[in-house]
Amino acid sequence: MSAIAVIRVSGKDAFVLCDTVFIGKNGKQLANQKGYTIHFGEIHLDGNVIDEVLVSVFRGPHSYTGEDTLEISCHGSTFIQQEILSALYSIGIQPAKPGEFTLRSFLNGKMDLSQAEAVADLISSENRASHNLAIKQLRGGFSQEIAALRERLMNFAALIELELDFSTEDVEFADRSLLRTLVNYVIDVVHNLRDSYAMGNVLKQGIPVTIAGRPNAGKSTLLNALLNEDRAIVSPIAGTTRDSIEDSIVIDGISFRFIDTAGIRDSDDEIENIGIERSYAKIDEAEIVLYLFDASHSNQQQLLEDLSGLRARTNLGKFIIPVGNKVDQLDDSVADVFNQLEGAVWISALKKNGIEQLKLELLNWVNVGLSGPSETIVTNARHVDALRRAEENLIEVRKGLNNHIPGDLLAIDIRAALSTLAEITGEVNNEDLLGHIFGKFCIGK
Ligand code: GDP
Repeated sequence: MSAIAVIRVSGKDAFVLCDTVFIGKNGKQLANQKGYTIHFGEIHLDGNVIDEVLVSVFRGPHSYTGEDTLEISCHGSTFIQQEILSALYSIGIQPAKPGEFTLRSFLNGKMDLSQAEAVADLISSENRASHNLAIKQLRGGFSQEIAALRERLMNFAALIELELDFSTEDVEFADRSLLRTLVNYVIDVVHNLRDSYAMGNVLKQGIPVTIAGRPNAGKSTLLNALLNEDRAIVSPIAGTTRDSIEDSIVIDGISFRFIDTAGIRDSDDEIENIGIERSYAKIDEAEIVLYLFDASHSNQQQLLEDLSGLRARTNLGKFIIPVGNKVDQLDDSVADVFNQLEGAVWISALKKNGIEQLKLELLNWVNVGLSGPSETIVTNARHVDALRRAEENLIEVRKGLNNHIPGDLLAIDIRAALSTLAEITGEVNNEDLLGHIFGKFCIGK
């Protein structure tokens, strides 16, 4: 139930059909109305008035789907909604499948496939970062980048194919060294786009951050300190085990998923070791590890050993931030106690000191990630897969150039790369693919 609900009807006979259940004030017929106008009237079913409604008229191609479309704004009772739908079904209007409006929009050339996918991302965006990425993609930035790459490759493919028409005359229209430069350039761009997915994906899903450290370092206290300050946005995530707690918070528009783990230390206790192994598994899932230690008890030598042990156990490139906790219990200044620990953040989880600094460090990781060579951030697994295959095709082209293979074979590899890139924007598509993409949309979009 809501204040109002909107029921959308799209297709060739939308106006004429709806005129059989809509009675406009002043006897207006929807079929005679201009686009971008709104009309007051009643919806009838079996001689009874169901509701007073406003109907917005969109004339194709100036509508979301590109077809004649109308939107019935009715009162939001679920009963009214059902009754209006029944009235529409009774005159032969079909319920839309998930994503069907957007699918039609794509099929009618109103948007390309990556833009259609951005619509789904936009609807499911929960924070500023994922919203920004979806809006950019919807506005066609990524599509244009792909189109520009394709156009340059296409020119070469056309020149090489032209040579084939003159094959008896041994001419070369397509300058091979220029082609090699271009292919290298496109491989670089495609590769950087692929790389950006690591960031795009975690921005979309929430950046996983593991809090690790020896027992009693204050891991749970830190998690609470982080969560309490942003309580409004805390959402427990289902499926987490009791020995690792997971919660999300949004810092400056970016979602971080915090994972608290059982403590890590050397142990002979079998049960404890299982917990420790699980902690390492959680660390492997994370992009950022906050390695928490008790600054009032740890000695520096042992800490450096712990940290290098952790670095050795985790994937290369994982970002580890040493976090010294319980500074409220330190008599000496931190600098005297841990003078060698670069990049460390000093906090008191209990007193909530230094938490802001810690958040800045987390945001800094995102900013560094976003300042990579690719301006476009890829967020979609399907796009990455197409980019990966396009890169393989292009590497074949490069090999072919190096081996001076004949133009007709080169052209085949270039065409393969072109068609793989075209999958992203949907210039090359098949029904399975469309069914897969639009099937994941919500109904009504
Ligand atoms: P965990 O085993 O790493 O999860 O550690 P806990 O969060 O359970 O904390 C262990 C103990 O350290 C508890 O008694 C906390 O109250 C205490 N503690 C945690 N953070 C601080 C801090 O910043 N200052 C002080 N003085 N005590 C802390």
